[in-house]
Amino acid sequence: MTNTHSRTVVAKFGGTSVADYEAMSHSADIVLSDSHVRLVVLSASAGITNYLVALAAGLDAAEREVKLDAIRHIQHRILARLQNPTVIREEVDRLLDNIATLAEAAALATSAALTDELVSHGELISTLLFVEVLRERGVNAQWFDVRKVMRTSDRFGRAEPDLAALSVLAQQQLAPRMAESLVITQGFIGCEDKGRTTTLGRGGSDYTAALLGEALSTDRVDIWTDVTGIFTTDPRIVPAAKRIDEIGFEEAAEMATFGAKVLHPATLLPAVRSNIPVFVGSSRTPADGGTLVCASTENPPLFRALALRRNQTLLTLHSLNMLHARGFLAEVFGILARHSISVDLITTSEVSVALTLDTTGSTAVGDTLLTQSLLTELSSLCRVEVEEGLALVALIGNNLSRASGVGKEVFGVLEPFNIRMICYGASSHNLCFLVPGTEAENVVSKLHRNLFEQ
Ligand code: ADP
Ligand code: ASP
Ligand code: MG
Repeated sequence: MTNTHSRTVVAKFGGTSVADYEAMSHSADIVLSDSHVRLVVLSASAGITNYLVALAAGLDAAEREVKLDAIRHIQHRILARLQNPTVIREEVDRLLDNIATLAEAAALATSAALTDELVSHGELISTLLFVEVLRERGVNAQWFDVRKVMRTSDRFGRAEPDLAALSVLAQQQLAPRMAESLVITQGFIGCEDKGRTTTLGRGGSDYTAALLGEALSTDRVDIWTDVTGIFTTDPRIVPAAKRIDEIGFEEAAEMATFGAKVLHPATLLPAVRSNIPVFVGSSRTPADGGTLVCASTENPPLFRALALRRNQTLLTLHSLNMLHARGFLAEVFGILARHSISVDLITTSEVSVALTLDTTGSTAVGDTLLTQSLLTELSSLCRVEVEEGLALVALIGNNLSRASGVGKEVFGVLEPFNIRMICYGASSHNLCFLVPGTEAENVVSKLHRNLFEQ
C-alpha cells in the first residue's frame, strides 16, 4: 500500500539538473534535504535526447560516430567522477552499445517504434548514474524501470498513459519499494501492450512525475529545473520577466498548454484531477525558492503571463457550400478525429474555418500531424490553404473575457504587427493570437513591457 499516512513527495529533475556530476550532486543534495521525497523521476542528461533523436532519423556512419562519441563523452565523464564506477560501468557500456546498434538499424530503416526504443536509453542511463551518486553517500537507493508501471497506448512518439493500469501497477510495484528505500526512475518513457518501449513526447518527464504522483496519491510533485520557478514569460526571451510565487492550476495549465516549456503541456492534468500541488524551482539555487502551483490563489491578477509556441500551422478551409449549410463543421471535425488530430484554436466565418494544429512535441521523426492523407481528405470537402512558420502568443490571465478594455490594451500595443488570427472569449483565462514566427519574440517583449513591467 502507499504510504498515505506520512507525507510523500515525488521529485523530478530535468536534463540540466542531471547534465554532469556536479549537477547530479546538487540534485542529490535536494533529494536528501527532504525526507518526504520517496520517488525521484529523471530526464536524460542535457543534450542526450537530442543526439538520440538525431540518430533515430538515420545517419550515415561518419555522422553517427560523431553523435555516439558525444553521448559516450557525456555519460563517461559522469561515470569517471564516481567513487566506485566499476559497479555500473558494464551496464552503462551495454546501454551505450545498444544505442550504437539501434542507430545502425535506424540508418537502414527508421520507425517511430525504433525511435522510442533508442531515445529511452537517455533516461535509462541517467537513472543508473544517479543511483550511484546517491549510494556513494551511503543512501539506500534503488533503480526502478518505470516501464513496469507506465503502460501506454502504442502511439509512439506521443503515447497516452493508461491511467487505470498505472494506478494498479504503481500501487503493486512502486509503493512497496518506496516504503523500503528511495526509488529512482525514468521520466518520459513507457511501454505498450506488446512490451515495446514508448515515449510521452518531448519534455514528457514532467508529465511522468505528475502521473506517478497521482497514482501514488503523493502530497506534492516537485519539478526541479534550470529556472527558479514559473515566470511571467520565458526569461530567456524577456530578462525582465518576474517569478510568480503562487499560481492557480488553471492558469499554469494554460501556460503549459500554450508553450511555457518549463512544464510539459499535460503535466497539470493529473495534478488538477487529484488536487496535488506542484512546486517548480531551480536545482542549482534551491534556496531561491520557486513557484507553487495549487488549486487557488489569493487575488489572481487580470494579466498573469505570456506564453509562446513556435512552429504553428494554420489551416484555412473554404467552402462555398457552407453558406447556410449544416454539417460542414461536423464533417471537418470527423476527418480530423479519424486522423487523431486535436484542434487547438479555431475561428469561423460563414464560408470558412481557420484552425491551428500544434506541430511540435512528438519524438517521432517526421511526425508533423499534417499528413498528405489528411490534406487529401480535407481537399475533397473544401479548398484548403496551409500557412506555416507562424507562432502562437497566448496572454494568460483571469476573467479576461469579462474585463473591459482588454482588447484595446493588448492590440493597441501590437499595432505594428501583422496578427493572423485571434481567439478571445471562449476561455476567461486566455487571449491567443497568431503572428509570423519571425516577429514572435518582438511581440512577446513588447507586450510584456506594456502589460507586466509598468
Ligand atoms: P528541464 O530540462 O528541466 O525540463 P526545460 O528546458 O524543459 O527544463 O524547461 C525550463 C525552461 O523553460 C527554462 O530554461 C525557460 O527558458 C523555459 N521557459 C519557458 N517559459 C517559461 C516561463 N514562463 N517560466 C519559466 N521558464 C520558462
Ligand atoms: N529527455 C526527454 C526530452 O528531452 C524528456 C524530458 O526531458 O522531459 O524530451
Ligand atoms: Mg522540460
